[in-house]
Amino acid sequence: MSNAEQGIKNIVIVGGGTAGWMTAAALGNVFRGTDMQIDLIESEEIGTVGVGEATIPEILKYNAMLGINEADFLRATKATFKLGIEFIGWKNGQDRYFHPFGVYGMDMEGISFHHFWLKARADGQDIPLADFCLAWQAGVNGRFAHPAGPPNAPLATLGYAYHFDAVLYARFLRQYAEGHGVKRHEGKVVEVKQGGDTGNIAAVRLQDGRELSGDLFIDCTGFFGLLIEKTLEAGYDDWSHWLPCNSAVAVPSERDPANRALRPYTTSTTRKAGWQWNIPLQHRTGNGYVYSNQHISDDEAADTLLSNLDGKPLADVRQLRFTTGKRKQIWKNNCIAIGLSAGFLEPLESTSIHLIQSAITKLINLFPNSINDSVSRSIFNRLIDQEFSTIRNFLILHYNATERSGMSFWDHVRTMDVPDFLKDKRELFEHSGRVNREDNEIFTEPSWLAVFTGQGVMPRQYHPIANVLGAEENLARLQAIKGAIAQTANAMPKHEDYVGRMIGA
Ligand SMILES: Cc1cc2nc3c(=O)[nH]c(=O)nc-3n(C[C@H](O)[C@H](O)[C@H](O)COP(=O)(O)OP(=O)(O)OC[C@H]3O[C@@H](n4cnc5c(N)ncnc54)[C@H](O)[C@@H]3O)c2cc1C
Repeated sequence: MSNAEQGIKNIVIVGGGTAGWMTAAALGNVFRGTDMQIDLIESEEIGTVGVGEATIPEILKYNAMLGINEADFLRATKATFKLGIEFIGWKNGQDRYFHPFGVYGMDMEGISFHHFWLKARADGQDIPLADFCLAWQAGVNGRFAHPAGPPNAPLATLGYAYHFDAVLYARFLRQYAEGHGVKRHEGKVVEVKQGGDTGNIAAVRLQDGRELSGDLFIDCTGFFGLLIEKTLEAGYDDWSHWLPCNSAVAVPSERDPANRALRPYTTSTTRKAGWQWNIPLQHRTGNGYVYSNQHISDDEAADTLLSNLDGKPLADVRQLRFTTGKRKQIWKNNCIAIGLSAGFLEPLESTSIHLIQSAITKLINLFPNSINDSVSRSIFNRLIDQEFSTIRNFLILHYNATERSGMSFWDHVRTMDVPDFLKDKRELFEHSGRVNREDNEIFTEPSWLAVFTGQGVMPRQYHPIANVLGAEENLARLQAIKGAIAQTANAMPKHEDYVGRMIGA
């Protein structure tokens, strides 16, 4: 057997941010009790990005895969529950809408609920779509409960994710990973050694001379891309012509101690050249302004951020710079990039941690039987490329479907040419109210519906099956669903009480 055909016996993860420790914990767990050796190298001197604080519901699957107890997780990471994102000003500067986790109303007669809502509108009834959204009715009243009950009960349809402190999450997972046999090495990698004529990575050398060799290398070095780019030159698909924000300023702020209320959702508010996030955690609020430095200066962005906080800043403003896009080959030779080293799509829909988790799941499913397993590599790359592209298209919609004008940033995104996939999706929706799911997209019909309608993209027609209900019966059913949702939301506990009970506060 040649070297290239030999099985994987040791894995070296370079980087210990969220990506590094999520990868280490998952691999430590799946290879527990085997002789697979897993090493992780991280450098305190370099540090981490550490600003990823909002997630999507897929995170529940990752924590469940590791067997993490939810109360322990909430305590360790100062987490709160997230029911979705409130978008403020995205349509015309004056509007608000909610992108919920979970569904709208209840599907009927074999088709999606929103066709009956569209029919009611055509019949002259102007009922806000948000009235049929439990996540919003609960969220706006500061309430939360876990999904429960029979499948058709409104509470059973609720989806949720978390806001958490990413630095604490990495620390929590480090403990887990080390408890599952992962060996941590403190130090800075200063040389990546490639072996023979394959170009595969053979070893990494640390500043103090230590050397770690491996069969498979995971590049979790963040924006540095030390192995995947600086060494293997995988290349980068630059998508900044569609997603032009390339900078962020971030600062945590005090939670108003007089106000116990804990908001169970993120807010995203448009600004002159981008948007500002507000993420409520147990102990503080995370804030950041994501912007394009082609349209405003860094100083102006920092001033805007600081003048739009709802509590005192707790640290200095941090400046981050990035290029939206992804590596051309996320798995190249015997190296897989996970996390920011693989690419970054900006945090508008909180998808980076999901992309880490998704890459880990795909790696486990396609785990190579030998160092040069080219089939697994090409399938992995195809699947991960699809995932980046479908998320990218959803993000572009937010910027492009806007009426905001008279500001150079917004004039650019409103009038830019968008990918054909997005053009088709929008045309289908405008034509028939339908949302077609392709390529196993992570954002499904309720998500597209929320953003389309929230930003003023309205269908001309609805599904003809909705006409099986006469106008009166349709309205009666809609009113009954709206009432059941309002009743369910009002019966849910206050979010801060729920979190407090779970963490034993
Ligand atoms: C402005 C902004 C907002 C974000 N918000 C969200 C959000 O709300 N939700 C979300 O899901 N994601 C968000 N993200 C993304 C999220 O922060 C990252 O996906 C996540 O933190 C993973 O980062 P990482 O581990 O890949 O990189 P990093 O955190 O940068 O970690 C890199 C690691 O590599 C190590 N390293 C680098 N070079 C070397 C070397 N030579 N030797 C040894 N070690 C080295 C570093 O020490 C560090 O441990 C956001 C990102 C940005 C920029």
